[in-house]
Amino acid sequence: MLLGIIFMIISNYFGVQMPIFVKTTIDSLFEASTPKNFNEVLMMMLKIGGIYMLLAFFKGLFLFLLRQSIIIMSRLIEFDLKNEIYNQYQKLDYSFFKKNSTGDLMNRISEDVTQVRMYLGPGVMYTINLVILFTLIITQMIQINGTLTLFVLLPLPLMSFLIYKVSSRMNKASHSVQEEQSRISTLIQETFSGIRVVKAYSREKEIKQKFNESIEEYKKRKMKLVYINALFMPTITFLIGLSTLLCIYIGGLMTYKNELTLGEIVAFIFFVNNLTWPFASVGWVTSIIQRAAASQERINDFMREVPSVTNTNETPFTFQGEIEFKNVSYTYPNSGITAVKNLSFKINKNESFAIVGNTGSGKSTVLNLLMRQFDPSQGQIFIDSQNIKDINIHDFRKQTGVIPQDIFLFSDSIGNNIKFGSNAQNISEKELIEITKKAHVYHNIEAFPDKFDTLLGERGVNLSGGQKQRVSIARALIRKPSLLIMDDCLSAVDTETEEIILKNLKKDQNVHTSVIVSHRISSLRNADKVIVLEDGTNFEAGTHEELLEKKGIYYEMYQKQLAEKEEVTK
Ligand code: ADP
Ligand code: MG
Repeated sequence: MLLGIIFMIISNYFGVQMPIFVKTTIDSLFEASTPKNFNEVLMMMLKIGGIYMLLAFFKGLFLFLLRQSIIIMSRLIEFDLKNEIYNQYQKLDYSFFKKNSTGDLMNRISEDVTQVRMYLGPGVMYTINLVILFTLIITQMIQINGTLTLFVLLPLPLMSFLIYKVSSRMNKASHSVQEEQSRISTLIQETFSGIRVVKAYSREKEIKQKFNESIEEYKKRKMKLVYINALFMPTITFLIGLSTLLCIYIGGLMTYKNELTLGEIVAFIFFVNNLTWPFASVGWVTSIIQRAAASQERINDFMREVPSVTNTNETPFTFQGEIEFKNVSYTYPNSGITAVKNLSFKINKNESFAIVGNTGSGKSTVLNLLMRQFDPSQGQIFIDSQNIKDINIHDFRKQTGVIPQDIFLFSDSIGNNIKFGSNAQNISEKELIEITKKAHVYHNIEAFPDKFDTLLGERGVNLSGGQKQRVSIARALIRKPSLLIMDDCLSAVDTETEEIILKNLKKDQNVHTSVIVSHRISSLRNADKVIVLEDGTNFEAGTHEELLEKKGIYYEMYQKQLAEKEEVTK
């Protein structure tokens, strides 16, 4: 930036020399000693033209260097700012992402950063430029004639004010255009990703109507913006015209009284024109600064967020296989729902632990607490007898394979989606085959022409619910986890396939401990310990056999599910 300012001073110096040179040339042309011979005049003109072009060349050269330093500086700051915000996003926890929409997160990193960059680049550049140019030009003008200087400068502040007004309205208008634009994008995106529902319900006409209304509104707003934009240049031109007029009229009177030379009037006209853009930029920059301030404020709000879950321990942690919940309660801050109430249980090494319960009984919440997505409102969780808050949570998560209830697959190949789970860099095809066989999905993948390179997502194939679940299981297994967590991840798989997968998992050597959540009793019959959750509390606990003997809720659920199964087989 300092370098940029130096270049700015040099460039403006040459810029100011140009009118002065013109002035001297004109004045000397009217002197008596001027050569009258054609050849002599031609030579003189060539010389004058040459010098003028040289001045222009240097002005341009340093202008180029100036933009190269200041605009590049602002781009570098933009780069840093984006990285900083992105890193902050990575650090923040679950509750932050629940509070803020994806649109907000994206706006901070693109729109708001752009506003700040506009201030740091053009905003700062034009402000400093105004100060330098103003000082240089005014010094020259006063040296020529103080009174005339005062007159021609009169309309300039008025111009700054008017430009500010126009710029503000322009900003407001372009903001409202932007708003409608993003509404249209969302509408288009949703209707086309949901095109099957639209067609199935035959709602094309209504959607088209909605789109037309939106695009009509967009046109209206855009027209307003075009109108204001059209006012911008005429306003400037009118005010320069006013200054030039004053310059010629008052300058002319002074020349008549021999107080001013012809060359000096010409120089003044040049100077006034040179000052025009810097003065216009005052108004423009003011509105940039206002927008940048608002944007930076929004960015700061995000940067000041302190993650409630932080890793306080950097020493390596190796999970041995013991988990304990002691009187744990959790209330979701946004809904006020206490999803887990005073829950206690203990899982030993090499045990498989099962949680069963109706939907909404708090099973997923227990798993989120175990992964430390958030900390308990009350009570403690111990991993290998250490409080979960005191262990290296990154290491713990690295050794855990989670198969969440709502599966998320990236718009990428099946292979890459599975490899995403692995901590290792290189994964052989052989390993992929072995893992997908374990997850009982290899035969599906093999059937696709592109095998592991088959693309998923919008432009790729759509997997069935059960296939997605099994790909997700493969993703967790490729981690070679010592703790395996499954959140109702076999719900879309038939019972036979479920048996096969569960049997495969039991044989897995890496897994010390597994936690399986299900509403289907058949999937957790073989677990070493089962708890039945109701309303977030540990209602019953024991092995499958013990629970059946109790003839409580578990027994009832079991009977009901057995009856349902018989219904189906009949
Ligand atoms: P389950 O997995 O057993 O179906 P959950 O743990 O998902 O149950 O949910 C338990 C309770 O907590 C439900 O009443 C649910 O509405 C509430 N809940 C779950 N997630 C959230 C959340 N992010 N914000 C607020 N409430 C939630
Ligand atoms: Mg759940």
